[in-house]
Amino acid sequence: VRFRSDVTVKLVRSLADDEGVVQAARVSYEGENTPSAEAEGLINFLMRNKHGSPFEHNSMTFYIEAPIFVFREFHRHRIGWSYNEESARYKKLEPVFYIPGRERKIVQEGKAGTYTMVSGDEEQWEYVEGLSEWSYKNSYRMYTRLLEEGIAREVARNVLPTGIYSSMYATCNARSLMAFLALRTDDPSAAFPSKPLREIAMVAEQMEDLWTEQMPLTAQAFKNQRRVAP
Ligand SMILES: Cc1cc2nc3c(=O)[nH]c(=O)nc-3n(C[C@H](O)[C@H](O)[C@H](O)COP(=O)(O)OP(=O)(O)OC[C@H]3O[C@@H](n4cnc5c(N)ncnc54)[C@H](O)[C@@H]3O)c2cc1C
Repeated sequence: VRFRSDVTVKLVRSLADDEGVVQAARVSYEGENTPSAEAEGLINFLMRNKHGSPFEHNSMTFYIEAPIFVFREFHRHRIGWSYNEESARYKKLEPVFYIPGRERKIVQEGKAGTYTMVSGDEEQWEYVEGLSEWSYKNSYRMYTRLLEEGIAREVARNVLPTGIYSSMYATCNARSLMAFLALRTDDPSAAFPSKPLREIAMVAEQMEDLWTEQMPLTAQAFKNQRRVAP
């Protein structure tokens, strides 16, 4: 049994650049040639005025490894997203489980909806780490036992917790990615700050970095508009 505190995010395929946004915006009335010096201003104009469709003419496919509880939240993003996730019916799941890193805040203070997260003390950490390890090991042992008894994978997996890692391909465009990032990152500069689960934010932050490399002007315009998706 292996324990992890991180997530994996890779950009496996991309057809995405700032030029594509400019071309999509201009094609309807000017043809496709726009000097790149104008691109930054135009992209900011589109973002500011919520002209969203020029940001859809691109595609990025991410490979993501994260605990299943992250994917449960991720798959709620329906529009402009395609998913394929590893199957626990067709393959035996690997014994890889999530335990939060010590930098994660683990204690909730305040009422539901308005609570803040604070760091745990040493004893609380020992509970989180010790009981998680115990529970994961036992669950995986029971899973293996059921498989040894000839039980189908799709039934045996019922005993596994949502802290087990899964993997998926997620394909989106820049517009759907921005809608996702607005909700799944915790950024004080945002016009509408969100308080996402830390673990999905860890995925979102890496996706944003990879996207920024592909579409730096668009990513900057999103920041300029205080992370309001067009
Ligand atoms: C901090 C946080 C806490 C959350 N807590 C909970 C929770 O406790 N329980 C829970 O169930 N979910 C929860 N969610 C999930 C949330 O309700 C959304 O399902 C999720 O964020 C996906 O957002 P979305 O619907 O905007 O995305 P998408 O499905 O990608 O939709 C994008 C946009 O398309 C439009 N759209 C999509 N579908 C429709 C439709 N059927 N009708 C009209 N317009 C549509 C909307 O404008 C929408 O914003 C939480 C999300 C966050 C960020």
